Amino acid sequence: MDARTADPKSEIEFLNGLAARRPRERRLALLLLILYRGGQIMPSWALESLTGFVYWPGLPARAQELLTADMEYLAANDYLHREHFDRVHRCPGCGSHLLNLREVCVECASSNLESLPVLHHFRCGYVAPIGDFESRGNGRECPKCGHTMRNLGTDHEIVGEQVRCRSCSITFDEPAVEAACFRCGQKTPVEQLPQLDIWGFRLTALGQSAAKAGRLFDEEDERIVEPGSALYRRSVFLKLLRDDVRLNARYHIPFTLIGLRLAYRSGVLREACEARVIDVVNETLRNVDQMGRFDDDGILVKLPATDQEGGEVVRHRLAERIAAIDDVQVVAIRIAITSDSAMEAEIARALGEANPEP
Ligand SMILES: [Zn+2]
Ligand SMILES: [Zn+2]
Ligand SMILES: [Zn+2]
Repeated sequence: MDARTADPKSEIEFLNGLAARRPRERRLALLLLILYRGGQIMPSWALESLTGFVYWPGLPARAQELLTADMEYLAANDYLHREHFDRVHRCPGCGSHLLNLREVCVECASSNLESLPVLHHFRCGYVAPIGDFESRGNGRECPKCGHTMRNLGTDHEIVGEQVRCRSCSITFDEPAVEAACFRCGQKTPVEQLPQLDIWGFRLTALGQSAAKAGRLFDEEDERIVEPGSALYRRSVFLKLLRDDVRLNARYHIPFTLIGLRLAYRSGVLREACEARVIDVVNETLRNVDQMGRFDDDGILVKLPATDQEGGEVVRHRLAERIAAIDDVQVVAIRIAITSDSAMEAEIARALGEANPEP
């Protein structure tokens, strides 16, 4: 796919027109637009937006919100894949991202602070903030031993610093950090600021098929498996897998998860080759086993009630049979899952490390 640069003005007009259409048409048109733009859409920073970013600069806020929600829908239904872009802190009062972060007094919350060096007198070992040593001619007098300190590094040193509040004049080691909202003025300790994850979206293989077919796959069976195949859709498979992980945690019923990282000799052949792979996996598995999509080149196979030893036999058999298909390379690995919350990250890491030989 090549990334084409669309005329931004006509694109905004197009998107604005979309806002008036029905959800299904809107979402399909979005997929087509993303396909046309090279397969992905990333946010841009936007000072004037409440959250600090937009997907389409120049698009009115209402249409922006509507289409952003559509992309969330498309991601939840496997047409788009989320990619983490960044995280913003927001004001809990008004939701704005325009925050002034600064250090404040731990007592009175004033930002009128100064930092003072802490001195160490070598002769007697006394350590105190600089203010405790009174100025005497061209030196400072040590309040403990009464001697005068003259040369930094020779008779005394700086061992750290303390913060003094000019408003209430207490001193302390670590100031607090607080956010003041530029928009509504609310002040919030930084650790209590709500955070928002910002995502970019990339078209999945399913999303590309839908864009090309001109329809979303939302017939009853199509909601579960990918069109024309026995492969569970990503969200469906992960839901099933989550059940196995929980059963395993609660009742120690074993299961095996196998990841297949695939590579094809040429992009032109990939669809046909993947269909062959799915057939071969299907022939190899038992009725109770399930396979599903993880990403464009990653397929997962789940063997319920199967321990490591049994799982290893199947993994080996799958690797052998898939490798025998022309123009296909495969790495088959068993993936250990420690908890259902870490599941997706663990699969992504394991598949990311599995690279077929070129
Ligand atoms: Zn203070
Ligand atoms: Zn001293
Ligand atoms: Zn605010």
